[in-house]
Amino acid sequence: MSTVLRARGLQKEYGRAEGLVRAVDGVDLDVAEGETVAIMGPSGCGKSTLLQLLGGLDRPSGGEVALNGSRIDGLSEKALAELRRTAVGFVFQAFHLMEELTAVENVELPALLAGRSPRAARRRAEELLEQVGLEGRARFLPSALSGGQRQRVAVARALSTEPSVVLADEPTGNLDSAATLDVLRLFEGLHESGQTLVIVTHDPRIAATADRMITMRDGAFVDDTRLTGGTTGQLGALLGLGD
Ligand code: ADP
Repeated sequence: MSTVLRARGLQKEYGRAEGLVRAVDGVDLDVAEGETVAIMGPSGCGKSTLLQLLGGLDRPSGGEVALNGSRIDGLSEKALAELRRTAVGFVFQAFHLMEELTAVENVELPALLAGRSPRAARRRAEELLEQVGLEGRARFLPSALSGGQRQRVAVARALSTEPSVVLADEPTGNLDSAATLDVLRLFEGLHESGQTLVIVTHDPRIAATADRMITMRDGAFVDDTRLTGGTTGQLGALLGLGD
């Protein structure tokens, strides 16, 4: 299986009044096509920074990152912007939807920016909203949707350009239990369909659906465990969340 994401000796330092903070400190990582990797660890250990480096939202202070075999750490700002538009899908804790656009307009936007025709972009957006169970909400503004529905729109948007990898930063951090389970099922479906996923999460239920669970501390990996895989249904039943 081919490697979608590869990092070697990855470092990120931030200069602060009290001195340099090494937020990411020598990370080596290979994510295979179709793999779901969960990254866990205490607040401030470098998870978000790592995700930003992997998706080209920020540049490392040292080391290498490659996406689909091509180095991205030295790309120009323009090339990085293009990469973020086409090859990477992001899902954030706070959704980051455009409040003045409807659900379907939010979902089609990346495809339009990537140069798809309006018809093709709209068709794909409608399919994606159906996939996340929101076909009846396509013309709603984000303010008329629940937190869980907004996050499902954000996941659909992340898939708009058929990215090589979806990077999710605490995707259930703002959601209640029922909405968490919806998003959990969504990620599990994506995993089953072969989408490569890297998910930063505090939620052991999300991590339990991954192929691998990586634990970070002080900017470095301290554990990388291959999981045999539970199912959302079993977990939901265990937690009394039901169907
Ligand atoms: P996590 O996602 O695990 O909570 P972060 O990646 O957000 O951790 O942060 C890792 C460390 O880097 C923390 O010490 C944080 O304060 C610091 N940090 C993150 N972003 C910045 C920034 N833009 N400027 C300065 N320090 C930062």
